[in-house]
Order: sequence, then C-alpha cells, then structure tokens
Amino acid sequence: MKTLYVAPLLLAAAGTVLAQAPAASSDQKPTPPPQTRSFDASAIDKSADPCTNFYQYACGNWIKNNPMPADQVRWGSFGMLAERNRYLLWKELDAAATSPKTPLQKKYGDFYAACMNTDLIDQKGVEPLKGAFDRIAALQSPKDIAAAVGDLAKQGDPGTLFRFGVQQDEKDSSKQIAGIFQGGLSLPDRDYYIVDNKRFTTIRQQYRDHVTKMFTLAGDSPEQAAKEADAVIKIETALAKVSTARVDLRDPEKRYHIYTVADFQKLAPDFDFTTYFKDINIRPFETLNVATPDFFKGLNEELSSEPIDAWKSYLRWHLIHAAASDLPKGFRDETFDFFGKTLAGQKEQTARWKQCTSQTDRSLGEAVGQDWVKENFPPAAKASMDKLVAALDKALADDIKTLPWMSDETKKAAEEKLALYRNKIGYPEKWRNYDALTVNRDDALGNARRNVVFERDYDLNKLGKPVDEKEWGMTPPTVNAYYEPSMNDINFPAGILQPPFFDPNIDPAVNFGGIGVVIGHEMTHGFDDQGSKYDGHGNLREWQTADDRKKFTERTDCEVEEYGGFEAAPAHDGIAAQNLNGKLTLGENTADNGGLRIAYMALLDTLAKEGKSIDNKIGDYTEAQRYFIGFAQVWCSEQTEQVSRQLALVDPHSPGKWRVNGSVQNFDEFGKAFGCKKGQPMYPEKSCRVW
Ligand SMILES: [Zn+2]
Repeated sequence: MKTLYVAPLLLAAAGTVLAQAPAASSDQKPTPPPQTRSFDASAIDKSADPCTNFYQYACGNWIKNNPMPADQVRWGSFGMLAERNRYLLWKELDAAATSPKTPLQKKYGDFYAACMNTDLIDQKGVEPLKGAFDRIAALQSPKDIAAAVGDLAKQGDPGTLFRFGVQQDEKDSSKQIAGIFQGGLSLPDRDYYIVDNKRFTTIRQQYRDHVTKMFTLAGDSPEQAAKEADAVIKIETALAKVSTARVDLRDPEKRYHIYTVADFQKLAPDFDFTTYFKDINIRPFETLNVATPDFFKGLNEELSSEPIDAWKSYLRWHLIHAAASDLPKGFRDETFDFFGKTLAGQKEQTARWKQCTSQTDRSLGEAVGQDWVKENFPPAAKASMDKLVAALDKALADDIKTLPWMSDETKKAAEEKLALYRNKIGYPEKWRNYDALTVNRDDALGNARRNVVFERDYDLNKLGKPVDEKEWGMTPPTVNAYYEPSMNDINFPAGILQPPFFDPNIDPAVNFGGIGVVIGHEMTHGFDDQGSKYDGHGNLREWQTADDRKKFTERTDCEVEEYGGFEAAPAHDGIAAQNLNGKLTLGENTADNGGLRIAYMALLDTLAKEGKSIDNKIGDYTEAQRYFIGFAQVWCSEQTEQVSRQLALVDPHSPGKWRVNGSVQNFDEFGKAFGCKKGQPMYPEKSCRVW
C-alpha cells in the first residue's frame, strides 16, 4: 500500500481533498441522518427528457428535495450515506468516551473526548507548541533547516516542505523502498499561486490576510505578522513553480527516478538529508525513488536565496496551520473563515462532534472499525459481494475477449492481468495494533501529533520488508472503494456496501447499477491510462503491443476531448467558465465507462440464468431502465461553485452530472433502453469507447 504520493485509484474524492474546516464549539445535538435508498422513484424529474439530460431526469427531484445543509460544500446520496456512517460511528465513540468496555474502547474514547474538550483546548492556548516554536526560533542559518525539519517531524509535525515515506518499487512491486515527493504548499494546487486571473489574484490576497491573522493570533504584532505572511507566500510560490503539475504526475514513468542517497543529496546540497533521515528514525538505505527531482533542485535554490528569517516564518506558519483544528477558538474560526467559507463556500462550521468523529476515524480507524463492523456489516453482505465480484470478473473477461480493437496477443496479456486480480471486501482479516500510540484524555493536540509519529513509524518500518497484501488503505466505515496498481487489488470497505449502492432486498438490476458499476469501475482502473501501464504483478511494464498501445491512446484521447468539453462552473462577473480537465479525469472517466458497460453485461448474464429479459418490467420501468436509474442515482448531488472550481483543478473524478451523462452517452444500450433517437444528446452518432 503506497499512500505516500501515488494515490490509489478511488471511486470518489476522499474527504480530505477539500480543505477540512475546524468546528464551532457550540454544538447542535447529533441526530440520525435519513436512511439512504436504492432506486428512489420520488427522485425522478419526469418533466425532463432522459434522452436529453439523463442526470436531470434521474436526479432532478432529489436535488430539489434535498437542499445542501449549511455545513456541507457538496451534498448527494453518496455524502448522505457517509453522514449516516459518521453518525453511527459517533454513537460508538460517545459510548466509549463515557463507559468503555475494553482497553481499546478506552483508547479511542479518550482520543475522541480530548478532541471534544474545546474548553481545555482554548485554555491551553499555543502553549502545547512552545517546544516547536522555540526550535524554529533558534535557527541560525538555512543550512540548519534540515535538522529543524527533522526535529519538528519527531515532535509530530505532519510534514513540511516535502513528503517522505515507504512505497512499493514501481518496477519490482515485491520490494518496499524509500520515496520522496514534492510538497510544502497550503493552497489546494500550484495553480492557486502561479496562475494570473481575477479569481486567483483575489484568493491570494485573501490568503495573505488569513496567514497574517493567524500569526497575530499566535502573538505577533500586526506589522510583524504581515511581513511573515509575505515571506510565507514568497516561499510557497517559489515551491509551486518547481512543482510538477497533477496531469504530468498521472504518468508513472514521470514519477519514477531511482537515485542513490548520495546522488539525491547532490540535487539539494543545502538540505542535509542524512540528518533528516536519522532524525525521523528510518533504517539506513542506499537508494530511493525521487518522484519529483526538479522540485528538490528548486527547493535548494530557495534555501540558499531566502534569508533565515523568511524560513522561520515559513516553518512557523506550517506548524500553526497543521495544528489549527486543535488550537483555541480564534485559530479554528479563522481557519474556517478562509479554508471553509472563502475557498469552499461553506456557510456554517462543521459541528465539533462530526469533526472529532472523523479525526478519530482517521487516527484510530482500525480500532474503532472493529466494533463498527460488528454492528453494521452482516456476514450476508460479504457473501453477496463475493457473488457480485465473480459476476463482474466474468463480464470483464468476456468484454476483453470481444473487444473490437485489440489484437489477440494483447487480449491474452490483459486476461492474464485480470486473472491475477485480488479482491478485499469489508474489513481487514487482521487488525492493526495500537499499543505504541499513547492517548491522553486531556491533550487533543498532543494526541494528534503523537498519532502523526505513530503512523510515520508504522510506514517507515516497512522499508525492506515484504509487502503485506492484507493491509487496507481505507477504514471500514468509509464510503468509497479503490484499486491499487502496485498491488493489483480491488478494495471495498464495509461502509459502501449499503443503499444506494447495495440493498439485499432490491432487484438485481438496481444493485448491478449501483455496487455492480462500482466493482466494474475499480476493475477497469487496472486498464485505464495509469493502471494499464502495470502488469498483473503490479510492476510498471508494457504488456500491450506497440500497435495496441497506439490504438488505446487514440481511444483515450477521444475521452480526453469529450470530457474536456464538459463545463464544471459557468462564467460570471468577469470570472471565466471552468471546464473539466479531460487529461486529469481520464482514468476515472475510463473506469466509469468501463464499469457501466461490464456491470450491464453481468446483469444480462444474471437475468438470462433466471430466464428473464432485459425488457422485463418491474413496476413502471424495464430491467434496463432500472439499471441505468440505479446507476445515476448514486451520483445525485450538488456542490458550491467554489468547490466545483476547486475540484476541476485537483480532483481526478468528474462531478456527478458528468459521471452520469458522460457514461451513458458513450453506451448505446442506454439510448435503446429509453427509446432515444440516434443523434439525441444521450444517444449520439459518435461516441467514445476504450473498454
Ligand atoms: Zn476510480
């Protein structure tokens, strides 16, 4: 599992893609969110023509009837299920915080209780960071920065300047090696620093004000704080300029550069990596993957050109920023104001109990998850999933066999890769051990910082060891799924195996449209623009013939152009319209298209076994129509304009509307199912197909 910088291919953006705003201290009492439903006839907007805008047809009334709550920035059936899981998790944490029954419950109960104790957090002020502030203040020269960054990491800093950890070797997935990756920014993407347009210029001014206010909250004079903010932005802008763009990072070859430690040190002679590696307590190693060499050259230039006072401001800022959710109210409110309200359009702060539930899930996920699955994941769900995965597996194998554009030689290689897929469903067979993590009921920030060290030690300890194939990259209550190219495995946490994705009491067409498409989506990731570059053993190796790779690229180019034409946010008030980035979203779009096709094939197979036809009617709709409506309703959602614009730059997933309309217009069976006329928007003359 390489969570470091090659993100696994998710079903949907993880919550952390959006800046997490800290919470208010005044809390409304938690209430159970509504049960989400598979196939919701009341969500359908019958005034819309499914052949013109299927998303509006399947979701129009859902959107009308489910206004976005004030504490959300995106809201959909997906998010509603996530809220429900979070509520159920909260019940468990709340009980564990009051009357724990096991030592593990005591540990996560205390973690949650400390996070909830905002009175104590407010009372402590910035005192818990005093040691770190002193360490930064003592810096004499830029040459000493490496030692300071190492010391701060040891104290629980989550990672300033760059990200470092252990990853599978892209070309020998059985090996776990050290890897280093660009970092050091606070805004969501490099574009926020370097693109000159009205929107980003305004955001940069607001960001400067925010950083200034945070420094004054930490005790600096307004003049000093403004000077510090300028220094921070100057350094971050320089780092943004030498950062590799997201689209380029999609190419695994472009993020694979094996260096000896000595040669790597030559890229950035002014940052003493030997000291840093020693400080963070990693065993000695000879070589590492330097994902973004240009970044480290650029970092070195900054180290030698910026005065030490500027670097002190930079380090101080990152320390405060990373700790904000466990600092006094002033810091939490100010961080919400910029990262929540301004950047994401969030109207109200997230309730503290929600924030602390998520924080506990992120920090002690497999401790809390053990109890959560006992309550919320019946064994029958796992058995049904095994059956569905087998059906999808067969459908993808059939799809490969009948693919019109691929040579027999490449088909054989693709089948070999598919045969090596492994799948993980629900939760880990073996839970992680949390003994080494100290949790104190009166120390929220200390708990968070000790957790950073605990997680880092766990990760660094993998160096040189065999890969643990049973390890999970998501906690059990998570509403998401992923494919991991180096592991060649598909993963479905217990949290997603519920309506609207999966309902044991509904007809197969709806389940194939929901969780079936999700399974097909994850399987197709092994064959998208990134996944297709790895073989069945998870190694970066070409297995397509040169001619097939050329045809593959022509076909993916078709999707790049198609989705690049979809609008994410309209123009207004001198701010330009924002389209999706066809290259950034290519892998996800390919997975959506492939998933929709193969789940449909699996449904046909299943119905045939029952002697039913796809035109068979259940209520008002045919099996085929129920399949497509079930698929679309998973994605019923809306989001703030700020989030639409932010995600268009950073999220490899298309928004719900285009996940639905983009996929159905590339699949002729949709037009047939709804009796559309060839040439209508959802049943076009020309469409794209990869798998
Ligand atoms: Zn995906």
